Amino acid sequence: MHIFTTVEQVQEFLASKRQNNARIAFVPTLGALHVGHLALMKHAQQIADVTVASIFVNPTQFNDPEDLKKYPRPLRSDIHQLTISKVDVLFLPMDDEIYPPGKDLSVHIDLDHLTNVLEGPTRPGHFKGVVTVVKRLLDIVQPDFLIMGQKDYQQQAIISEMIRQLQIPTKLIRHPTERADDGLALSSRNVRIDPKHRPVANTLYQALQKAKRLQFRKNPKEVVALCSDMIEEQGFNLEYFALVDGENLQPIREWNTSASIVACVAAWLGEVRLIDNEIIRE
Ligand code: AMP
Repeated sequence: MHIFTTVEQVQEFLASKRQNNARIAFVPTLGALHVGHLALMKHAQQIADVTVASIFVNPTQFNDPEDLKKYPRPLRSDIHQLTISKVDVLFLPMDDEIYPPGKDLSVHIDLDHLTNVLEGPTRPGHFKGVVTVVKRLLDIVQPDFLIMGQKDYQQQAIISEMIRQLQIPTKLIRHPTERADDGLALSSRNVRIDPKHRPVANTLYQALQKAKRLQFRKNPKEVVALCSDMIEEQGFNLEYFALVDGENLQPIREWNTSASIVACVAAWLGEVRLIDNEIIRE
C-alpha cells in the first residue's frame, strides 16, 4: 500500500493511474478502523481499479473539543488493517495539507433543510465541517466513486445533495450498515461502551426493527412513542427517535406521503453517544 501525506504525492500517483483509464474509488474515514470500514474498502475494490482510503480526523466537524481530543487514533493498527485488506493508497494528510493557511475552502450551497434536522441541532457546525472536508477531499482525489456508510445516513444524504448541486462527476455509493452479531451498529465509539452497558447496546437496533414491523399497523407518531419508550426503558438517554422522509429528512406524519422512509435514532448509553438508522422503505 502506498501511503501519501501530501496532496501533490496523491495527485501525481492517481494521475498516472487515470492515464491508464483506471477507475478510482475513494473511502474517506476518521480512522480507528473496524470491520464496517473494511467492508467499504471491499466494496470499493469490487467496483474500481484503484482504492483510495483517507484517514483524517477533521477538526472542523467536531463541535466538542473534548470529543476531538478523545477520538481514538490507533494509526499503526489502521495501517495494518488497510495493508492486509490490499487497499492501494492511504492518504494521511496533516491539517495544513487539507486546510492550507489563507485558502478559502467554504462551500457556498444551501443545505440547511438537510443539516438543521436530526444530528444538526445537537452538533452545531458538524455538517458544515463534513461538507467542507469532503468537498476538499473530492477535489484532491477526484474519484469516480465515493463510498459512504448508511450508518451515517444524514451525512451521506447531505453529501449526495452537495454532489448534485455542484455537479461533481463522482458517483456516491451507499454501503449498508455493518453490525455486530446482536445488531449493534459497528462504530469507532463502541470501544468506549462500558462493559456493563454492552448487553443492552443493541436496543437501538431492536427499536428500529420494531418501527419497521409497525409500518402501516400504527401511525408514525405512535411508532415513535413506542420505540422511544423501549429505548428509555433500557437506561438510554434518548436524543431523538424519528421517522423521516429518506430524501428531504423531514419527519413524516403519514406512511403514504413519502417514497422512501428512514427511522433514525441517537441516544446516550452512559458516556457514549450512539446513532443508528434503518431504511423502512426505499
Ligand atoms: P468514520 O470514520 O466514522 O467517519 O466513518 C467512515 C465511513 O465509514 C463513513 O462513510 C461511515 O458511514 C462508514 N461507516 C462507519 N461505521 C460503519 C458501519 N458500521 N457500517 C458501514 N459503514 C460504516
